[in-house]
This record gives sequence, structure tokens and C-alpha cells, in this order.
Amino acid sequence: MRKNYLLTPGPTMIPPEVSLEMAKPIIHHRTPVYIELFKKVNVALKEVYRTKNDVFVMTSSGTGAMEAAVVNTLSAGDTVLVVKGGKFGERWGKIAEAYGVNVVYIDIEWGKAVNPNDIKKHLQENKAIKAVFTTLVETSTGARTDIQAVGNIVKDTDAILVVDAISGLGAEEFRTDDWHVDIAVTGSQKALMLPPGLAFISVSDKAWKMTEKSKLPKFYYSLKKARKSLEDGETPFTSAISLVIGLNKSLSMILEEGLDNVIKRHEKMGRAVREAAKAMGLELFAPDAPSNAVTPVKSPAGIDCGLFIKKLKSKYDVTIIGGQDHVKGKIFRIAHLGYMDVFDIVIVISAMEMVLVEMGYKLELGKGVGAAQKVLMA
Ligand code: PMP
Repeated sequence: MRKNYLLTPGPTMIPPEVSLEMAKPIIHHRTPVYIELFKKVNVALKEVYRTKNDVFVMTSSGTGAMEAAVVNTLSAGDTVLVVKGGKFGERWGKIAEAYGVNVVYIDIEWGKAVNPNDIKKHLQENKAIKAVFTTLVETSTGARTDIQAVGNIVKDTDAILVVDAISGLGAEEFRTDDWHVDIAVTGSQKALMLPPGLAFISVSDKAWKMTEKSKLPKFYYSLKKARKSLEDGETPFTSAISLVIGLNKSLSMILEEGLDNVIKRHEKMGRAVREAAKAMGLELFAPDAPSNAVTPVKSPAGIDCGLFIKKLKSKYDVTIIGGQDHVKGKIFRIAHLGYMDVFDIVIVISAMEMVLVEMGYKLELGKGVGAAQKVLMA
């Protein structure tokens, strides 16, 4: 018998309580029972988003909500600013370009976070910019953006601030309204402890004003349609019923633990992984902008990164993930996201030590585990 440990930045592990809810016989979505549940979910979502605005539940992976953010606010020929420091910043640009939107990029070295003043400079110099697209946690590099600082800049302009909080929301401090975030998107398979399949999007008044002028084509992803249905506690199309029922459970688990406590738990797990890596003589990939969601680590010299990840899975059933694009084979990423507690961290570090030693890396067993334990005990 072996247990499976999934420590990837999506999908993440699912609490048994949530799986059991989703296994119940399905009900119809146009019924009072479901509508009641959907309304409850919407209230809880607002709490997790820390917003007074509606948060729409979409049936898609997170990218669907990213596309919805673009097509509902912009028109072809508009200009937007995209912060690109990894795969997901890049995705904002690709979506916008696919719809004929002009994209101005702020290119950042992978592993670094944007300097908010660079955004300010662009907005001052280019008054045509209608929206600023950023990423709370750039999952491909582990770097976290200071959204609060960015929000304080964008709020004084005509542009809207759109944040991909897909891997960050529920793991990082994130205050949609206080930080002047106009649109925040997230997905179900990260800190919200569900399978993939749901995406979420919040919309501020400033962003709603832009939807009035937006001419990009939209049908399934029309937020106006979603707003109209939500007035009656419904969705325009068939709701992902079982996932929403699971969401009702996972959100109540998060709110029962307390959102602040959930974020503190993530912060502690992230710190434990970073301290463990350092104690093992490993180098962090994004030391200047660490996140609570995922820690990328440079693969040490002489160790085949791909083989290391494969061995973790085949020998110990611990799944972590490698790097993407030009850092493929150079980094591995350990997620500390969602349904995880302190002992999941001890397990992954312990398995990493065992595999690294088996692969000939010079390391005293227990060094990393001990460093993690010290953080986790405090
Ligand atoms: N943005 C970020 C920051 C992500 O981590 C991910 C998923 N890894 C996505 C966007 C894309 O989400 P999805 O795969 O659910 O479409």
C-alpha cells in the first residue's frame, strides 16, 4: 500500500469531505435547493475575495476567466499593459493579441517581481492604456507581485487593474476592494481545494463601465449575461453542479478555519520549504519575491532534474513539478497550496532528501527536514 502525495501548483489535493459532497446524487440546477446553495456559495466567495462586488462562477479552467476578463472589457485596437515574467503573464498577452488588442509588455526576468513604478511610468507615458494585466503569483517562477502597490497606482488612472490570482487567491493576502483590483480571476484546482473545472471572476464598478463600451465578441463568457442570471441565483448555462456543491464545502472549510489563518498556514509552509531547501544546500529560484503558493528550486549541479522528479513519483509517490520553457530541466517546483498541512511539508522534504542522496547528492539526511520542522514548530 502506498499513499499518493500531490504537491503541484494545481491540481492540488482534495479534502475527503469535499470529495464526499461531490459524490452525492446529482440534483438539478434550476431548483430551489440548488439556487439556495448557489447563493450561499456566492456570499462565501465574496468573503474569500474580500469584495463587495459579485464574483461569477464559470464552468471552465482558470484561463476561461482570463479570456472573459479580456473579451468583456476591451475592443479590437485598444492598448493594454501586460506584466510578463513567466508563462502566465505571457498568457494575458496571448489572449489579448488573439482578439486584436495591442499589447505593451513589461518584460521581467523570470523569478523577479515587477517594480510597481515601472507600471506607473508606462501609465504616465501612454494614456491610451486601458487595462493593466498582472499575476498575483506567477506559478511558473514562484514570484509574487505586490498587487497592493500596483493597485494604488492604477486606481488614479482611467485604466482597470486585472489580476490573475489563479494560484494565489486563498494562499496569499489578497484584498480585492481595498487594493483597488477591478477584475480578479481564479480557478478551482488551487487553494480552493477542488478538482479543475471552475473559474471565478470579480468585477468592479470601474470594470463594469468598460463592459458597456467593449466590442470584442463574446457569448458563453458574457459577464452581462452572468450578472443577469445571478440576480436570480442562477447561471446562464448549465452549472457545474457537483463542483459547485464541492465548492460550498471547501469554502465553508476555509471560512471555518478563518481566511487569515489559512493564509498564515500557507505562509508557514512556504517558509518551511524555503528554509529546508537552503539547509539542503539548494538554491531558490525566486528568493526576492517568494510566494506562499509554490517554491521553485534550482536543480543542483550533477543532478538530472527530470529524473529526480520521476524518482520522487516512482519510488515514493510524491509528485512535484519541473520548470517550463527555458527553465525546463533547471528548476523543480514544490507547491504548498490548498489542502495541505505541516506534515505534508515534512513528507515532501524527506522524500526529496532520500532521492537526492540516492542520486549521489552530498547531503546529511534530515538536514532539510530539521530545518522545516524548526519553522513548523514555531
Ligand atoms: N494563471 C496561473 C497563475 C496559473 O497558475 C494557472 C494554472 N497553472 C493558470 C493561469 C491557468 O489556469 P488553467 O490551467 O486552470 O486554465
